[in-house]
Amino acid sequence: MNDFCRVPLAAALLTQMAVGTVAQTPSEAGPPLTTRCESAPITAAFAKFGETGRMPSDLGAFLANAPLQRIEPYKAFDNVYYVGICWVSAWLITSPAGHILIDTLYGEYTDRLLANIREVGLDPKDIKLVVVTHGHFDHAGGVTKLKSELDPKTRFAMTREGWREAQEDAAARRPFPWTMIEPDIVLADGQRLTYGGVTIQAFETPGHTMGTASFAFDVRDGARTYRAFTVGGLGLNAIRGPEQVEAFIASVKRIRALTEAPLQPIQLHLTTHGFSTGLTEAKELLKTCKPGDPHPLIDLAGFRRQLDGLQAGAEKRLIIERQKRKG
Ligand SMILES: [Zn+2]
Repeated sequence: MNDFCRVPLAAALLTQMAVGTVAQTPSEAGPPLTTRCESAPITAAFAKFGETGRMPSDLGAFLANAPLQRIEPYKAFDNVYYVGICWVSAWLITSPAGHILIDTLYGEYTDRLLANIREVGLDPKDIKLVVVTHGHFDHAGGVTKLKSELDPKTRFAMTREGWREAQEDAAARRPFPWTMIEPDIVLADGQRLTYGGVTIQAFETPGHTMGTASFAFDVRDGARTYRAFTVGGLGLNAIRGPEQVEAFIASVKRIRALTEAPLQPIQLHLTTHGFSTGLTEAKELLKTCKPGDPHPLIDLAGFRRQLDGLQAGAEKRLIIERQKRKG
């Protein structure tokens, strides 16, 4: 097997990201966050946000900086394109008969998403279904715009609780004013949806929010097909009590089990936030890969380490949340 694609730097970074141990000081993280899209400093800034509950000012500025958030859209697999921005993903799963989009970005970034789709030579009007992982603005904030821009027959899908969460956050103008459409398709756990020529399977994975959904789908690389998975929510930044952390742990364990399923085991993680897996750096290797090389976005061991890291973090958080409840 040719290891051409796996340069040591990216492998090390993927490992760090996966176990969630990156907590670099600004000097270790290199130039300030506001100068480039890189996983390590963004992860460190979000870790600080998580610890303090306050958005670091440089992080806020970075997220709002459209030129810095721009990522050239790219073909991740023969049938999958990345059409998101630096800090939030949007995945387009394509077929000649129509496409499925995962997540919608927000504000002007949803315009960017539409431009990205055109940039890779596809037509947003060929999107048949939009699935949304959960109700936070960075994933659901573009639904209203897409509803007005896409084909009128395009459908939108979330879990029942996901729809409720999105409407609640939009009504509360969290963290800024945005709007949400009325619920359309309500996802059931395990449901397979086929739109155009694409089939996607939905899983209810409560934890990040109680309405979070994750998705499994096939990705193709030449003659080979792999089972990809998008974990709908990764962080413990919206926790409202120990029950939610318990749900998070159960969901992570369930996803871990799906990597070992006898039928159609999931083999790789296409993340909702590129910095969480080192996707930002790994995708650069796509440019130099040769046919027959290992695919740079397939890292099952890294995916499992990430899940183990998420579970370990959640178990620590559970102790804190239980103490809070008692206190
Ligand atoms: Zn979220």
